[in-house]
Amino acid sequence: DEPPAAMAVPQAGDPTLTLLRRVGVADPESLDDYRAHSGYTALRRAFALGPAGVIREVTDSGLVGRGGAAFPTGRKWQATASQPDRPHHLVCNADESEPGTFKDRVIMEGDPYALVEAMTIAAYATGAHKGYLYLRGEYPRALRRMRYAIDRARARGLLGDDILGQGFAFDIEIRRGAGAYICGEETALFSSIEGYRGEPRSKPPFPVEKGLFGKPTVENNVETLVNVLPVLTMGAPAYAAIGTERSTGPKLFCVSGSVGRPGVYEVPFGATLGELLGLADVRDGLRAVLLGGAAGGFVRADELGVPLTFEGTRQAGTTLGSGVVMAFDGTVPLPRLLLRIAQFFRDESCGQCVPCRVGTVRQEEALTRIVERTGAGAAGDIALLREVGSAMRDASICGLGQTAWNAVESAIDRLGAYE
Ligand code: NAD
Ligand code: SF4
Repeated sequence: DEPPAAMAVPQAGDPTLTLLRRVGVADPESLDDYRAHSGYTALRRAFALGPAGVIREVTDSGLVGRGGAAFPTGRKWQATASQPDRPHHLVCNADESEPGTFKDRVIMEGDPYALVEAMTIAAYATGAHKGYLYLRGEYPRALRRMRYAIDRARARGLLGDDILGQGFAFDIEIRRGAGAYICGEETALFSSIEGYRGEPRSKPPFPVEKGLFGKPTVENNVETLVNVLPVLTMGAPAYAAIGTERSTGPKLFCVSGSVGRPGVYEVPFGATLGELLGLADVRDGLRAVLLGGAAGGFVRADELGVPLTFEGTRQAGTTLGSGVVMAFDGTVPLPRLLLRIAQFFRDESCGQCVPCRVGTVRQEEALTRIVERTGAGAAGDIALLREVGSAMRDASICGLGQTAWNAVESAIDRLGAYE
């Protein structure tokens, strides 16, 4: 019942890597091997610094969220830690469902103890004693590895009532998603853990104040959390020196499509898209690259100099999102690809708010008419798509509806998809 795909890490074994250096090198089931590869040095430093010191380091490192939205991690941790309401909760968002995203899977399958250690540090810094790992249901190997790593860590006193004899209590419970994309949205994820339908809630209040079970909650993506390990082992200044001034540190990218070596790559922020595609052995005849996944946007083959930073991709009119890099050559029928994206959003809309529930259906209908040439002409349907798209963007409750038109819009405006 397990999909055959193993880990796709073409750089495995490269000792210069920061996030992927143990993947494919250390035995993912062996806690001793993890420790032999410098595992648990970050937690020891965290205990030496104390919670406030850890938050200071994370803030000074410039680390921002790697789930896609790039919110400053130190600010989120500080906001949770300072809430008087108790208890505080920690949630690791491992419901990685953005089409083309598989970096968190590689971490959980290839370096599971790193996530256990990083969650322990996040909990220590923010005053949480219970952590939830909300894991995508379609990741059975990651589930097995994480479950095993949590059990081993608990058996060795690295989770439980008195971690490393420091008097700090913390444990992790795994919850599996059931295949709904929307449950990766943090508030829908909370509803899912609480036993309700996975529907987003309006923000504010933000989870730092009122999150899981109505309590202050720090919610971070898997990749965000494991970045805290190098922040603590190398120190904030050295970490902040990687990448660019506003996008610091290393970043994982999921490269797929028209490339010879698809997989997860680690590069410092600021590398260009062309450099990344070069590592992945991009094939001849490239037409366009989709950045940021279904909610992202396209760049043309003549724009490969775009720097892979949050600010650089924004300036280029697209988004870095969760690190999706899908390369398309001229053989891919763009209108059908866009229709597939629209079908995805129509399928995954939770239906709670009208702009998204109705808009994603209208969008799919218009794109179907264009592909099947059954309407009065593409121009009218493109005008309708713009109207529906701006209503979804302006009036939807959550990111799904707000971004459901992004890729279609950028394909029309930047690639001339229907010309
Ligand atoms: P968001 O900008 O609303 O929030 C980002 C994070 O910052 C959240 O945790 C939020 O609680 C926090 N936050 C924002 N403002 C705050 C404030 N004033 N005080 C305290 N906390 C604050 O974005 P979002 O809707 O959570 O996420 C959107 C992103 O998710 C998109 O960029 C998209 O790329 C990404 N995404 C990723 C996947 C995946 O599989 N990794 C799937 C779908 C979407
Ligand atoms: Fe649900 Fe879509 Fe509204 Fe989000 S925008 S709450 S997914 S209907």
